[in-house]
Amino acid sequence: SWIDLKLFCHDVVEEMRMSIGASHKIVLNCYGSCELVYLDPKLLRSILSNLISNAVKYSLAGGVVEFDLSCFDQVATFEIRDYGIGIPDEDQPRLFRLFHRASNVNAIRGTGLGLAIVYQCVLQHQGEIYFTSCEGVGTSFVVKLPLTLGSRTEHLSPESV
Ligand code: ATP
Ligand code: MG
Repeated sequence: SWIDLKLFCHDVVEEMRMSIGASHKIVLNCYGSCELVYLDPKLLRSILSNLISNAVKYSLAGGVVEFDLSCFDQVATFEIRDYGIGIPDEDQPRLFRLFHRASNVNAIRGTGLGLAIVYQCVLQHQGEIYFTSCEGVGTSFVVKLPLTLGSRTEHLSPESV
């Protein structure tokens, strides 16, 4: 459906803030015009909540999670960065597989399903996902989704429904 992407991301971040409490700071920055785009809100919510909850879970309390949203040239880019435990090089090639968990998670609980779900959601949206990570330094996940842009008038006219 047609969504205001900026508003949508603000809402998701607000929900995440409520559920994690005061342990981490989540900072959202928006670039470009993201006001009205055609995306599947369920898929997008699943992508963002999994990536943000990982960023929180795999970084120390008091940490900052940065979320950059940008829309340029019919592509929405979502980047979620943390300064947490990072992902060891040897685990990186298998990260999107079901049940795969890296060797440095220690006592941090999880099932290894979140990223596999994210991957499927991105595929369903004809998008792409990649990450860069350094153990002990931090991780950045980037999701790119192709966009159909709308204008307000198009949005409001009955023909477009
Ligand atoms: P859950 O199914 O509850 O999400 P999970 O978090 O272990 O469990 P995934 O979200 O699929 O599973 O992530 C897979 C693995 O990738 C994690 O176990 C962790 O080793 C690694 N990982 C994912 N995101 C990060 C991150 N931001 N920083 C460090 N490691 C990460
Ligand atoms: Mg997870």
